[in-house]
Amino acid sequence: MAKCEKCGVEVPEEELTEIEGLKVCEDCEIKGVKPPERKTDLSKWN
Ligand SMILES: [Zn+2]
Repeated sequence: MAKCEKCGVEVPEEELTEIEGLKVCEDCEIKGVKPPERKTDLSKWN
């Protein structure tokens, strides 16, 4: 087992992905890669 360096959860080593030098779990990978909101949608409101 290995540990996510971002949230600290224990996961199998093969599920860790290295992002910006940190080995993170799949959850952190998804949160780290996807932006929290789509700024391009703002143009539709103007
Ligand atoms: Zn994590």
